[in-house]
Amino acid sequence: MIKFLDLEKINNRFREEIDTSIKDILDKGWYLQGKYNEIFAKNFAEYCGTKYAVGVANGLDALNLIIRAHEFGEGDEIIVPANTYIATILAISENDCTPVLVEPDINTYNINPDLIEEKITPKTKAIMLVHLYGQAVQMEKIWELAKKYNLKVFEDCAQAHGAYYQGKRVGNLSDAAAFSFYPGKNLGCMGDGGAVVCNDEKLYQKIKALGNYGSHVKYENLYKGVNSRLDEIQAAVLDIKLKHLDKDNARRREISKYYRENIKNNKIILPQTYDENAHVWHVFPIRTEDRNELQEYLAKNDIQTLIHYPKAPHKQEAYKEWNNLTYPITEEIHRTILSLPISPVMTDEEIKNVVNIINKY
Ligand SMILES: *Cc1c(COP(=O)(O)O)cnc(C)c1O
Repeated sequence: MIKFLDLEKINNRFREEIDTSIKDILDKGWYLQGKYNEIFAKNFAEYCGTKYAVGVANGLDALNLIIRAHEFGEGDEIIVPANTYIATILAISENDCTPVLVEPDINTYNINPDLIEEKITPKTKAIMLVHLYGQAVQMEKIWELAKKYNLKVFEDCAQAHGAYYQGKRVGNLSDAAAFSFYPGKNLGCMGDGGAVVCNDEKLYQKIKALGNYGSHVKYENLYKGVNSRLDEIQAAVLDIKLKHLDKDNARRREISKYYRENIKNNKIILPQTYDENAHVWHVFPIRTEDRNELQEYLAKNDIQTLIHYPKAPHKQEAYKEWNNLTYPITEEIHRTILSLPISPVMTDEEIKNVVNIINKY
């Protein structure tokens, strides 16, 4: 059986180091806001190339806190890709802002920069980008629009840890960026975790306080905050795995390249990248007219696949008010997309197997 993602195998590579850190945390009895958070935040900011990073409880909170720190609320509009994972949109709703959906580019699956300007109104406050499936958004046009209309730009980097755009890492391309360390992400912990990175010290201090009851000094509350912190065990695990992230991403690129060069089946549309360094292949999404049949065929041949995602956000019950709208490109993607197994622990034999079986379909 070729698993979609073998998390046990992924994390067992670091078993000894993880055991040592957890033992240290148990021995010291310090579980929150301690030295592991400090070290990881410093190393993660350095990795992203930003001045600051702060650990939070999960990726959704990271997105939430960025919007909250800017004090955007009712009546404010935030532009977001229509085909993102729903969390990006939920964060906008949770702040009582209006998500304004923009169609993606069918070749990159990222927001189509040419369709943004027509959605900008006097109420638009920000553009929330998503580096979907691991590929960095092409930023030029977006930076231009932000400047022209005085908008903030935020990044949802939950699927793209380590991806580059023109020599800079994602997370360092905007005013503030959110990361998720959900176990299956390219950098994942052993539970929930997230981070915000930015270059503005005031914003960093505010987000750090907002995630800690709005408190910057113990028992002093500047803001009506929330409780959203990364615990010490997760920070310790992440710091161990961060050192291997570039190597893991390189292996993902290698597998992706192998798939792109060797899958030869005219029923299948392969994913593309405009620059090998821009993509960290969180998933390897192919498209085909008979997606469900292909998924069944692969399952019968012991290859696990997943669909990212089966239903577009505007078709979800949670967003009833949008159910009658049409976003043709988004819907086409949700109808035809299928993610093949890709992970740093896959063997060459498994990769060849996937290719052979798909080519016989
Ligand atoms: C995983 C994910 C999130 C949410 O992260 P959590 O840590 O699960 O809250 C947000 N946006 C995108 C694009 C994601 O893939």
